[in-house]
Amino acid sequence: MDSEFAEVIDHDVTTITCVCGNTVSNEGLIQANSEGIPVYIGRNSNVPGGLAAWPDDEDLYTLCPSCGRVYRDTVIEETGTAPVAFRVDVASGPVAEAIRVHWSLDL
Ligand SMILES: [Zn+2]
Repeated sequence: MDSEFAEVIDHDVTTITCVCGNTVSNEGLIQANSEGIPVYIGRNSNVPGGLAAWPDDEDLYTLCPSCGRVYRDTVIEETGTAPVAFRVDVASGPVAEAIRVHWSLDL
């Protein structure tokens, strides 16, 4: 694993500026599970197809849908730094499909 870091302010995951330059107010960032799959914000059991259920252990990650870098929220909250945890394929496959579903719900 490389040692890339996103910029983050005051341990706040919503202030991430991804290594690629993306932010919440730019293309947006998506809450994801430990596999990088976007999670469904709702707590009921009707998880839309393609999305992951909210993790029972609250172990959340932040996915950059622009480049596929994923950051672990607890690391950011505890250390105030945002190392890249891993990367996923956002161009095709299950994560790409889940991102599409995520944005379709927000519209
Ligand atoms: Zn990015």
